[in-house]
Amino acid sequence: MKYTEFINKYASHPHYEAPKGSKLHARSWQTEAPLRMLLNNLHPDVAEDPSKLIVYGGTGQAARNVETLKKIIELLLELDENHSLLVQSGKAVGIVRTHPQAPRVLIANSNLVPAWANWEHFEELKERGLMMYGQMTAGSWIYIGSQGILQGTYETFVECGKKYFNNDLKHKLIVSGGLGGMGGAQPLAATMAGATYLGVDVDPLRIEKRLKTKYIDKMTADYQEAKNWVLEAKEKGEALSVGLVGDIGNVLEQLLADGIVPEIVTDQTSAHDPVFGYVPNSLTLDEAIELRESDQAAYKQMSLKSMARHVGFMLEIKKRGSIVFDYGNNLREYARQGGEENAFDYQGFVPEFIRPLFCDGKGPFRWVALSGDPEDIYTTDRALMDAFPENTHLIKWLKEAQRKVAFQGLPSRICWLGFGEREKAGLIFNDLVKTGKVTAPIVIGRDHLDCGSVASPNRETEGMIDGSDAVSDWPLLNLMSNTAGGATWVSFHHGGGVGMGFSQHAGMVVLADGTEQAAQNISNVLYNDPAMGIFRHADAGYESAKINAEKFNLKL
Ligand code: NAD
Repeated sequence: MKYTEFINKYASHPHYEAPKGSKLHARSWQTEAPLRMLLNNLHPDVAEDPSKLIVYGGTGQAARNVETLKKIIELLLELDENHSLLVQSGKAVGIVRTHPQAPRVLIANSNLVPAWANWEHFEELKERGLMMYGQMTAGSWIYIGSQGILQGTYETFVECGKKYFNNDLKHKLIVSGGLGGMGGAQPLAATMAGATYLGVDVDPLRIEKRLKTKYIDKMTADYQEAKNWVLEAKEKGEALSVGLVGDIGNVLEQLLADGIVPEIVTDQTSAHDPVFGYVPNSLTLDEAIELRESDQAAYKQMSLKSMARHVGFMLEIKKRGSIVFDYGNNLREYARQGGEENAFDYQGFVPEFIRPLFCDGKGPFRWVALSGDPEDIYTTDRALMDAFPENTHLIKWLKEAQRKVAFQGLPSRICWLGFGEREKAGLIFNDLVKTGKVTAPIVIGRDHLDCGSVASPNRETEGMIDGSDAVSDWPLLNLMSNTAGGATWVSFHHGGGVGMGFSQHAGMVVLADGTEQAAQNISNVLYNDPAMGIFRHADAGYESAKINAEKFNLKL
């Protein structure tokens, strides 16, 4: 298919869609795969705002602008297996000579020299068309919709239930803010874990999207109605989720005034970006949109103040007995800057619940059926259930996901797998392609939020026992080992999850196209990638990571 015909069919702004089926448009699956995944990131069912190329997480984009996007598509359609495309903050900037086992795309997004690594400098560059915010999986083309965070959120709630509620979230109420691309996974994760859930978002359209994709059960703009629904459901032990239109700070204030103490409180508003993410309580959504354009400095001040107030209510609720934790949006940092001195008095979800999984090399393993056929994902589900019969937790998860997760864009699946398991699963997928049991190749990737791929002192590396929270050699080593190991595309980003200046992280995607070469690459990459989590945590002194290193005979 010619370039113009391709653009008209699949990438006519703002209508984006990945090609489906087993027919190639690019020269090989190695380039067809990133091409389909880039377009999938922008599919209207997947992206939060395709008209601005925004995929999720505040302003996380897939490409810098429409022109640069088209150029990337044009080059991917042409690229052969002896070259690799360089993408700098969403713009193709060159093609280098490589070889068939090298990554076909090398991506660097939003990286700034540390002393300049702040939102103000970034915005200046963005204004001049020189940068874009890549978030974690937006600019690295492996976002899969709200499912991408669903199991992680589910694991987090389940761990919270184990740690604080005798492993039972029935008759327990979870309250949180933000029902966007990632936050939208919370209601479904909460009800899957057996809890009652109240989520608050200022933007009704975001809640409507969750209703449409069946991530949330009910919606209202009336506080009293939402309160009655959730209290009644909690009383009956019903796993119901409710989306309420409003400011989360205001709703927490009202809950406090009404003497309601939810068992669990967290937050997933886009607090990592105080200007283009968080909406201050003193503004309506329309006023916020206007002020973002006219006076960013004033907006930021209002936003920081509002976050301080919001966290103040979370701290008060904690005092009254709630389990309160940060869910990875850097709300505490900006609340501290806004004047809440005690903002860090509650912990982040990684040290609270997730770090032991990281010590096992566990993380958010995900895969996508490039065919677009849901049956291909069900085939992979069955293959995993057969391959891991002893892993009842995994089997329960896959069955639940089949029942409850509506696919967004190309059918995909997520499940947290550890060292050894990921390599085994990847090779099984490659065999399914080789033997024609699935109808087209599969891509295997993960979030940048993983055991050995990120340095983020307010999130993934908060409170490391050796104090190495801010050491970002680790994600760089992760990037290099995945590149050397033969990933199909790799990425290195700054600022994902928690905003400019607060994180550096690496991503990878590896193709299963049924070939021997793919099997070799999968084996290397899915060994190296989780091994990095064990190396990182063993080096920091975590006992369970040291035991794992010995158990798996990892060379330290
Ligand atoms: P998003 O931009 O798609 O959604 C954020 C939502 O917050 C929007 O719907 C917005 O209307 C709402 N909002 C903003 N201010 C509000 C307020 N005062 N009251 C109520 N609602 C408000 O972002 P997302 O993809 O859902 O990500 C949310 C946050 O979580 C981001 O900061 C992101 O970086 C972070 N994140 C965390 C994880 C994790 O694993 N914990 C993973 C990915 C992203």
